[in-house]
Amino acid sequence: MSNSATSAPSAHPTKLPHQVDVLVVGAGFAGLYLLHRMRGLGLSAIALEAASGVGGTWYWNRYPGARCDVESMQYSYSVFDDLQDEWCWSELYSGQPEILRYANHVADRYDLRRDIFLNTRVSAAHFAADTHRWQVTTESGAKVRAQFVVMATGCLSTARTPDFDGLETFAGDTYHTGNWPHTQVDFSGRRVGIIGTGSSAIQAIPVIAAEASHVTVFQRTPNYSIPSRNGPMSDAYDKQWKDDYAALRTLARQSNNGIVMERNEHGAMDVSPEERVRVYEARWAAGGTQFMGSFNDLAINADSNETASEFVRDQIREIVKDAATAELLAPKGYAIGTKRICVDTQYFETFNRDNVRLVDVRNAPIERFDETGLVTGGDHYAFDCIIFATGFDAMTGTLNAIDIRGRDAAELRERWEAGPRTYLGLSVAGFPNMFLITGPGSPSVLSNMMVSIEQHVDFITDLLVHMRDRDLAVVEAGTDAQENWVQHVNDVAQKTLYPRAASWYMGANIPGKPRVFLPYIGGVGKYRKICIDVATNGYKGFAFEEDRTLARAG
Ligand code: FAD
Ligand code: NAP
Repeated sequence: MSNSATSAPSAHPTKLPHQVDVLVVGAGFAGLYLLHRMRGLGLSAIALEAASGVGGTWYWNRYPGARCDVESMQYSYSVFDDLQDEWCWSELYSGQPEILRYANHVADRYDLRRDIFLNTRVSAAHFAADTHRWQVTTESGAKVRAQFVVMATGCLSTARTPDFDGLETFAGDTYHTGNWPHTQVDFSGRRVGIIGTGSSAIQAIPVIAAEASHVTVFQRTPNYSIPSRNGPMSDAYDKQWKDDYAALRTLARQSNNGIVMERNEHGAMDVSPEERVRVYEARWAAGGTQFMGSFNDLAINADSNETASEFVRDQIREIVKDAATAELLAPKGYAIGTKRICVDTQYFETFNRDNVRLVDVRNAPIERFDETGLVTGGDHYAFDCIIFATGFDAMTGTLNAIDIRGRDAAELRERWEAGPRTYLGLSVAGFPNMFLITGPGSPSVLSNMMVSIEQHVDFITDLLVHMRDRDLAVVEAGTDAQENWVQHVNDVAQKTLYPRAASWYMGANIPGKPRVFLPYIGGVGKYRKICIDVATNGYKGFAFEEDRTLARAG
């Protein structure tokens, strides 16, 4: 099929209703699917979206080179059979414009737009115990009452620019990868500074370097990155997936990280050094995140992990011609995978270009900005424009930006002062009838997010059916269940190497943010089983109430 909308798109509404059954915050992949499922239950549901379009991540992150790093055949909805059979991705890892087109196609195909309010940022959500309703307030002061509120607000949706001294005095253009302009940015003939070397920077740098007159990359921590080996989608590969989609999607749901990949069931130290290198070379040649499946103990055994880390360092040393630059780019002091693994197209090769320079800001942090550029290590660097690829206040930043109050007007951000506490990453004690999609304490960012989003949306949908069948109107996570879950999330994390790295998974990228491991690392398949067990045991851990005020509340 041609990947364009099949029906005339309906318009977005402008007049907010006074009251709905379900109010969804966000219209990314999570919000879109939620709206679809809520409607399927016959509930009145709307989504409020801060952006002027749908697509979430893929609406905001329009920087050059932005693309998925989970293969498109897998980074797509699995719940719409016709859609997944008909949609043809053009590349193995599709670019941002194509993924955004896909999100828009979904909005049109399932007629979702008529219930999505754009340019509508939610500023507050307060639970009223007397009516058992949430009062949701938008930035412009409009109010909507809802029985249920679902925060589909995204884990990586609050872009963060560090508080650099004098930043406001810089006279050139500044950009953040996570809030990129909608018009083409022309870098030709310009001197560009890029701050950061995470996944976003690693994708953007090669593309921008090919256009700009000069690029200076300011690196605080080098990252492990695996070549994607991206290319056009072949008919054969497309067919291979589509012929067996149902079974493969099931495998993904049962897997550790929501991705179908060949996993080696041996530990790295169980094989000979020659065999180890053979495995790493094959995985490096195949490309992508499946490199982390080279052996089954890379996340838990420091010695095993070191063999993979050193292999990647050696690849960098081989690719980058200048030995000092190569050494600076070679990550040390933390285990591969414990900061989000990156996937690139010609990233390390880009440092062989004459117009690219790497500056270490680990030992000499950026001191200040001025009208023409910035100062680090006593040197001044002049730029026409500066790009912040400095990441996000991940997992909690977007939720804490909303004034969320539950029972007794308790503030969520206050409850989470020492780190987020949730039951299953989707519900919070004291905040009845509020759900989080891929919230802290769920596999979320450690997984193919499409798999985790669908699982959460389906869980919530089933829970609402359970309530409807029993005339229940209020659901809330129990405190004990929540505390046990938080303990479990921490216990599992501590068995791995992950908490040892200063990563955004640990909140380490935000000064003052509590250092707790935010996602659940027990695995997507295991987590799904736990959720099924919770559901089949009468949603154990949740407390329910009938609502005698329902008739009064209307
Ligand atoms: P989002 O897409 O973040 O959508 C949340 C929406 O909520 C946003 O549109 C936001 O504007 C809106 N919102 C937030 N707060 C408010 C508010 N107060 N009021 C109203 N609206 C609000 N994951 C993968 O699995 N594979 C990948 O390859 C991958 N690549 C990524 C690449 C980039 C550049 C980034 C940043 C993330 C990537 N991710 C990837 C993670 C990605 O965020 C998820 O895959 C997925 O898109 C999240 O969908 P979502 O709907 O949960 O959240
Ligand atoms: P990120 O991984 O948090 O990277 C931010 C970068 O900015 C890091 O290199 C960080 O250094 C640096 N930085 C932050 N503050 C700094 C300061 N004051 N001075 C100097 N450097 C500073 O953010 P991201 O690259 O936007 O990626 C975030 C996540 O989004 C990814 O991990 C991934 O989950 C997702 N993503 C995926 C893809 C994809 O390939 N599909 C692409 C982009 C994003 P430190 O490491 O030292 O903190």
